[in-house]
Amino acid sequence: MTTAFKDFLTKHNYSKFDIKAILFDMDGVLYDSMKWHSKSWKDTMDEFDIPSTAEEFYLYEGMIGKKTINHIIKREKGRDATDKEKEDIYRRKSELFTKYNDGSLIPYAYDFVKKVHDEGFTCVVVTGSGQPSLINKLEVNFPELFNKKMMVTAFDVKHGKPHPEPYLMGLKKAGNLNSNQAIVIENAPRGVEAAVAAGIFCIAVNTGPISDKVLIDAGANIVLPSMESLLNNWNEYYRIINGI
Ligand code: CA
Repeated sequence: MTTAFKDFLTKHNYSKFDIKAILFDMDGVLYDSMKWHSKSWKDTMDEFDIPSTAEEFYLYEGMIGKKTINHIIKREKGRDATDKEKEDIYRRKSELFTKYNDGSLIPYAYDFVKKVHDEGFTCVVVTGSGQPSLINKLEVNFPELFNKKMMVTAFDVKHGKPHPEPYLMGLKKAGNLNSNQAIVIENAPRGVEAAVAAGIFCIAVNTGPISDKVLIDAGANIVLPSMESLLNNWNEYYRIINGI
């Protein structure tokens, strides 16, 4: 495991880590909402008679909705989606997501955030979501662990993941940190790519159905099966980080 951390430092010409903040993706890391996104996408596509699989939406996680629609229509119909299709499909998908989403947390997400918060790390949420309801819930589900100033949402950036802007903004909001002063926790390939592009060490927690290889190929420095595993491994990782 030490190798993953050492390789990162070598690649980025840093002599050591100086971790001050943990940057958390939201859907699939803190909230168990990806299964509802996936189901609402699949059901919407079925209603519009457009072939898709529930699993593929995990690969598109983080992509803006209209791009996802265009990608699938292009594949299935050999043409771009019309503006009307993009609007109608996205509206229905959002409607179903609101109906399905039960707001449940990823198991042990709270425990991990609470632990690192109490250890003195700044906790920042970096999400492509612009759904005010989900964002407001953070303050209910993670009381006093996150605050509005320490959040990067769809409203803060021009470019979504896999562009590095959201995570670079996360470093900035956490106190103008350098990329060796934070760790990103992600679950989706495009989110991992964004962290890597921002030059930040990325731990992927594979909470969905995609294979670990997709996350490794995206550039994740470590891939774990769950937030529980991250919670259990954190002391060891932090010992390695400080020992380098
Ligand atoms: Ca995610």
